[in-house]
Amino acid sequence: MDEATRMERLRALPSIDELLARPAVSSLLSDQPRPLQVRVLREAVASARARLLGGEDRAFADADVAEALARLTRPHLRKVLNATGVVLHTNLGRAPLAERAVERIAAVARGYCNLELDLDEGERGSRYVHVVDALCALTGAEAALVVNNCAAAVLLALSALAQGRQAVVSRGELVEIGGGFRVPDVMHQSGATLVEVGTTNRTRLVDYARAMGPETGLLVKVHRSNFAVVGFTEEVGTRELAGLARERGVPLYEDLGSGALLPLHGEGLTAEPTVASIISAGADLVSFSGDKLLGGPQAGVVVGKQELIARLEKHPLDRALRVDKLTVAALEATLELYRDGKDGEVPARALLAAKTQTLHARAKVLATSLEAVKVRSRVVQVTGRVGGGSMPLAEPPSWAVAVAVEGEGAAQLHDRLRAGDPPVVARIADDEVWLDVRCLSDADVDAVARCVVAARERTW
Ligand SMILES: *Cc1c(COP(=O)(O)O)cnc(C)c1O
Repeated sequence: MDEATRMERLRALPSIDELLARPAVSSLLSDQPRPLQVRVLREAVASARARLLGGEDRAFADADVAEALARLTRPHLRKVLNATGVVLHTNLGRAPLAERAVERIAAVARGYCNLELDLDEGERGSRYVHVVDALCALTGAEAALVVNNCAAAVLLALSALAQGRQAVVSRGELVEIGGGFRVPDVMHQSGATLVEVGTTNRTRLVDYARAMGPETGLLVKVHRSNFAVVGFTEEVGTRELAGLARERGVPLYEDLGSGALLPLHGEGLTAEPTVASIISAGADLVSFSGDKLLGGPQAGVVVGKQELIARLEKHPLDRALRVDKLTVAALEATLELYRDGKDGEVPARALLAAKTQTLHARAKVLATSLEAVKVRSRVVQVTGRVGGGSMPLAEPPSWAVAVAVEGEGAAQLHDRLRAGDPPVVARIADDEVWLDVRCLSDADVDAVARCVVAARERTW
C-alpha cells in the first residue's frame, strides 16, 4: 500500500458520533448501555488505526465494530486449557471439581435449598452441618467448620483463640504462603502477640517450653507446605508439641494448608501428612484448604475439639468469612467421594496419580494430530509440579509436546495461544512451547491441537 492511500485511510477513520449515526452500527449496539457503546466504538477505531499503522491496508469497516463488541462482551472468566502440567495452579483456579461436585452446585444453585434450615425440626440450622459429619468421619475430629479459604481460617483461629494473648510459633515456620499472606502479619491482624521460638533451621521442644507462660494463649504449628529446609535441621513434631500443650493447658493449633484427606500415591510425589494423622497426633485444631490436595472448592476447613470450634463459631469474624451455598454443595459432594471410597474420582488426585505411560501415550496422540496438520513437534519428558503451595519437593514425571515455530520466538507463539479461544496456557523451555499433557483430558488434547493450528494461522 502506498503511503498516500494509508494516510487517506487513517484520515478517513470515523468519529464516534459518525459511527453512532450509522443505522447498521447503532442497531448492532442498541442493547448495550451507552458507556459500553462508546467503549466498543473507541476500541474498533483504535484497532483499525493500529492495523493501518502496522502496514495492513484493510480500511475501517462495520465488521470492526462487531469484532470489538464480541471481544468486549464475551465472558471474562472462561475455561482455559492447562498445558502447564501444574495440577493445583493458583492462577488457573486451583483444583478442578469432580463431576459430582459440579452437578451438586447446579442442583442447588438453580432454586432454593436448605442451607440454613433444619428440615427435621423446621428451625433455623447451621450452614456447616451439611459437611460436619463427613469432615469428622474423615479426619477423626470432634467438630468442624468451614470458611472462605485457609487464610481466613488462620485469621479466625488466631483471633478467636489468641486475641490479646501470646501465640508461640517456631521461627522456621513463619512462612509466606503466596499473594503476600504472611504468618506474622496475620498474627498481628488477629490481635495475638507473636512469640517466636528457635531458629530458622532448628527448633526444639525446650524452646517452646521456655517461651510459655501465663500469657500464652496458643501453641501454633505451621506446615511448610510451599518450601523445605534441608541440612542441619530439627523441628518438633505434632505429637511432642501436643504433649507440651496438654501439660500447660494451652491448645495446639496446626495450620496444615495442603489438607490431604488420604495419602497420595503417584510417581514423584513426596509424603504429605493427612489431616487425620495430625488429629490423631494430638493437635486440638487443624486448618487446611478445600482446593489444594483435598481437590474441592475454595474453602478453609477447620477441624478439631468441639469446645474450640464453638469459640470460632461465636467470633464475629466467622460471619464475615462464611462460605456460600455453592461452596457447601461442592464440598459436601467432594467429601462424599472420599467417604464412599471413590477418591479416585477427585480430579486433583487422579491427575497427580496419572501413570507416566498414560501421559506418554497422550503426548503421542497430541504430537500425531499436530503432525497431521504439518506442525512440527516432538515429544519430550518433563518434570511437573503439584502447585498451589503443596509438596514443594515433588517432581512428578510427565510428558509434553514441544512446539517450535520457525522464524518466531516461543514467547510470541505462547502469547497467541493464550489469546486464543479457548486460551491455552503452557510453559516455555529451550525457546519452544512445551504443552504438558498431565492436566489435559482426551477432549482437551484435541482442542489444544486445534488451538495450535489456529495460533499458527493467525500469522503464518
Ligand atoms: C495454602 C496455605 C494457606 C492459605 O490457604 P488458602 O486456601 O490459599 O487461603 C495457609 N496456610 C498454609 C500452611 C498453606 O499451605
